[in-house]
Amino acid sequence: MSAGTLIDGKAFAAGLRQRVAGSVAKFVDVTGHKPGLAVILVGNDPASQVYVGSKKKATVEVGMESFEHRLPEDVPQSDLITLVERLNADTAVDGILVQLPLPSHIDDKAVIAAIDPAKDVDGFHVVNAGRLAVGEEAFVPCTPLGCLMLLKDQLGDLSGKNAVVIGRSNIVGKPMAQLLLGENCTVTIAHSRTQDLADVVRRADIVVAAVGRAEMVRGDWLKDGAIVIDVGINRLAPEGGEAKGRLVGDVAFDEALGHAGAITPVPGGVGPMTIACLLRNTMVAASRRAGLAMPEGL
Ligand code: NDP
Repeated sequence: MSAGTLIDGKAFAAGLRQRVAGSVAKFVDVTGHKPGLAVILVGNDPASQVYVGSKKKATVEVGMESFEHRLPEDVPQSDLITLVERLNADTAVDGILVQLPLPSHIDDKAVIAAIDPAKDVDGFHVVNAGRLAVGEEAFVPCTPLGCLMLLKDQLGDLSGKNAVVIGRSNIVGKPMAQLLLGENCTVTIAHSRTQDLADVVRRADIVVAAVGRAEMVRGDWLKDGAIVIDVGINRLAPEGGEAKGRLVGDVAFDEALGHAGAITPVPGGVGPMTIACLLRNTMVAASRRAGLAMPEGL
C-alpha cells in the first residue's frame, strides 16, 4: 500500500449494491416475492426528504419493493407507533426505517422500541445494540458497518491494530467501537472530554472520525501509514460567490494525505456505504424471515 491512497467508498458501495441485486434476484426466484423496505418520513425536513428519496431510488434499483409512508409534522406519537406496529405485522415488509430526526413532540426512543427487532434494518433497537455488545448476530447500524467493510477491504485482518474512534454516538461511534473490538482491535473511544486528542490519535493504526466538526483532525496528528475513515459531513460557509459552501469531513484531508496510508474522501467515502449497507441489511432481514441461508458475498 503506497502512502496516501484514496479509499473509494463510491466504487465499493456500487459493488455491494450489485451483489445485493444478485441476491434479490435469487430471493425472488425462490420465494416468488420481492424483499420489502418500508420507510417512514415525518414532516418536511428538506435533508430528510433528500435522504428518503435516495433510499427509495436505491431500493428500487436493486429490485426490492419500497413502501414509503409520509406523515404530517404534527402527527401524534401514538399514530406513528400504530403505523410501525402495522408494518411489523405486514408480511410484505422485511425492513422498517424511521427517518430521524423526528419532530420534538415525539420520543424517538419509544418509536424505535416499537420496531420489531427482526425488521430493524437500521440497527437502532436496543435489542440489536445489546446483541452487538455481547457479540451475537445483530443488525448493525449502516454507517459503522460500511466503515468496517472499507477497513477490512484495506487491511484484511484487523487483529491487534490500535484503533481510535472519535465520537461516541449510539448510531456511529459506539457501534463502530464494538465492531472493531469484535475484530480484535485494541480500541480507544475519544469524545469531547478526551484530553490531548492529538496524542491519542497519534498512536492509532486505524482512525475513525465521527464528530461533526469540520477538519478537526489535523494531518500531523496521524501516525504515518494510518488508515483514516472520515465519517463527518460538514458544510463550510460559501466562499467567492459559491451558492453553497464545500462539504468537508472531520479530517483535514489535504494535510492527512501526506501522513495516512489510506483515507476516505468526503464526499465519496463513507456516505455511499450507508445506503448500500441499508440494502444489505434489508436483504439479510428478508432471507432470515424467509428461512433462507445468509446471502453470499454480503
Ligand atoms: P453526534 O453529534 O451524535 O456525536 C458527535 C460525537 O463527537 C460526540 O460523541 C461528541 O462527544 C464528539 N465530539 C464533539 N466534539 C468533540 C471534540 N472536540 N473532540 C472529540 N470529540 C468530540 O454525531 P453523529 O455520531 O451522529 O455524527 C457524527 C458525524 O458523522 C456528523 O458530521 C454527521 O453528519 C456524520 N454522519 C455521517 C453519516 C454518513 O453516512 N456518512 C451518517 C451519520 C453521521 P460527547 O459525546 O462528549 O458530546
